[in-house]
Amino acid sequence: MEWCVTMPKIELHAHLNGSIRDSTLLELARELGEKGAIVFSDVEHVILKHDRALSEVFKLFDLIHVITTDHETVTRITKEVIEDFADDNVVYLELRTTPKRNDSKGMSKRSYMQAVLEGIRSVNSVEVDFSHKANADTSAHSHFVDHLCNGTRSKKIYVRLLLSIDRRETAEAAMETVELALEMRDRGVVGIDLSGNPVVGEWPTFLPALEFAKKQGLPVTLHCGEVPNPDEIHAMLDFLPSRIGHACCFEDEEWKLLKNLKIPVEICMTSNIRTETIASADVHHFADLYRSNHPLILCTDDSGIFSTSLSSEYALASSTFGLGKREMFDLAQKAIDFIFACDGVKRELKMIFATALKKLN
Ligand code: 5GP
Repeated sequence: MEWCVTMPKIELHAHLNGSIRDSTLLELARELGEKGAIVFSDVEHVILKHDRALSEVFKLFDLIHVITTDHETVTRITKEVIEDFADDNVVYLELRTTPKRNDSKGMSKRSYMQAVLEGIRSVNSVEVDFSHKANADTSAHSHFVDHLCNGTRSKKIYVRLLLSIDRRETAEAAMETVELALEMRDRGVVGIDLSGNPVVGEWPTFLPALEFAKKQGLPVTLHCGEVPNPDEIHAMLDFLPSRIGHACCFEDEEWKLLKNLKIPVEICMTSNIRTETIASADVHHFADLYRSNHPLILCTDDSGIFSTSLSSEYALASSTFGLGKREMFDLAQKAIDFIFACDGVKRELKMIFATALKKLN
């Protein structure tokens, strides 16, 4: 479905270290193998294996973090991931990552994020907008959009960042991440995510940091209902997050609550199917939410780990549920309402979609 590739798309649920190219991961692992830091032959098949249960995915992340957590590599993978999304005609990307401390590399959460910013700045195959001051001269942006829509200028991608709290972290580490996010609001950080192995950690540990973020006006999205845990799902919905991700293990009562609250859901079909949290595409809750007109956004989750792309996710939903080009375009466009960036960016995205619509027909 070529049109799934060519139409503009919005990605709101992509983990940096889950979106690395296989080729880059293998190259980095081979280099570490040559230095004697890991045994390459032990990790090669782990990287190349495609069907993994959810628990195996988190084991793979531990390996990826060993391979990628130094400043230079973080910069490289950030650059490549943005280039790959831009290549797939993603026009707005909210990229999430867990700021990491790695004393052996002299890395703090702040310096990790500086390496991410360096990666964003080093993208040169596409124009990147990664901070948008409320009072900035919007005429320059509109001028750009004009050019973009007329096809007289190279591609542009808006990139914003969400800082993730890993469920293995302490309350203090979670608060440190929120404080860092607040400090970086003028450098493209637009929100907070709670992620990590869903069977690890307790909701009350993260609540103070998440409440603080909310109080400071920083939107929060939560990985919610990846495993059956009704008490946690209820507590998360009571928190009134700005969005949630996954929602795979909801029961009738939780669906009712979610729909009443109209909390947008980031849907990651391939990820849910590969990790067997959902049996197959045709029984995915996308269908029910779509038919109920509930706010939802198609996303990739971990395009590297699950060998997918946002256009593949659109193609999968389209072919599974019999949705046509125009319906998928409308779905992509509606995602504008759920981004965490400011109204100025929303206006510009609306112009990009309006122009693309003329070409669609
Ligand atoms: P990073 O934050 O290191 O850039 O991206 C990888 C991290 O994102 C993982 O270690 C994990 O904490 C989180 N993550 C990636 N995919 C998933 C997922 O499907 N579910 C959950 N709960 N967390 C994920």
